[in-house]
Amino acid sequence: MNLEAFPDSAHPITWPEGKRAAASFTFDVDAESCTIAHDPKSTGRMSLMTHQSYGPKVAVPRLLQILRRQDIRATFFVPGFTAECYPDTVRRIVDAGHEVAHHGYLHEPMQGIDADTEARYMDRGLEALAKAAGVQPAGYRAPWWELNWHSAGLLADRGFLYDSSLLDGDAPYRFSVAPGDSRDIVEIPVDWALDDWEQYAFYPGVTGSGVIESPAKVLEMWTLEAEAHLAQGSCFVLTNHPFISGRPSKAVALERLIERVKGMDGMWVATMEEIAGHTRRTVREVHTHARIDVPAFPDTGARFTPSLIREPSAAAG
Ligand SMILES: [Zn+2]
Repeated sequence: MNLEAFPDSAHPITWPEGKRAAASFTFDVDAESCTIAHDPKSTGRMSLMTHQSYGPKVAVPRLLQILRRQDIRATFFVPGFTAECYPDTVRRIVDAGHEVAHHGYLHEPMQGIDADTEARYMDRGLEALAKAAGVQPAGYRAPWWELNWHSAGLLADRGFLYDSSLLDGDAPYRFSVAPGDSRDIVEIPVDWALDDWEQYAFYPGVTGSGVIESPAKVLEMWTLEAEAHLAQGSCFVLTNHPFISGRPSKAVALERLIERVKGMDGMWVATMEEIAGHTRRTVREVHTHARIDVPAFPDTGARFTPSLIREPSAAAG
């Protein structure tokens, strides 16, 4: 096994003329889908459903106003089920000039599913986006950022330009969809520190850490991230969920953040599709992801569990 490393932490990328780094503001319009995927019975919980529907009903219109005031374009990752439930909301996003991208059909759990099942989710999501707003997405973000080893091939089969679900970079790069396959996908990596879920999400028994952080603290934290990306010439990608960050004080903090990031000298604020297109045109290297083989440890054929490490004598017995 020889795992390939990038030549430097920011990867070899140059930005459009006059720009030193890039930033993209993205919104995952999960709405009810992520709770239903987690537990189909959650549709019976009226209050929980309203917590989720706040996103497309209340928050998206507010966020669109903010984006218009700030004169930037953003990327909205929309599950197919959200598009079927709220086609008018998706059309408003498109009509305002923003990018709409793919985010599964029902925000399905992706771990361990086979390629055929994943292809069905992907196609159903594509059909829903096309029907709701005539969208043919260039980009994909896996539900819960859970890409599978076979996912990139499915994306290439369907003509996708980019994915944004992996966590091994500070800047976009190209990667081969499979060993021996000449096709590649652009990856725009994400970071849990730049997701509003960890900062604000809370619903009893459903989400979050139980701590709803102050937007002042979050604004400071995300500003530091943007400044660091600017300094090293990489790509700041913020992931917000309208039902979380579209609420009043959080939306105000987000608008302040957009103002700050826009005002950073040399920062290119763009949609994910624009950043992916630039990457495809200018980056020559194509990275390869290698799947790690589980080492036989401590004995050939043994199941690798923490208890085996802590208690080797018990394991032997
Ligand atoms: Zn999501």
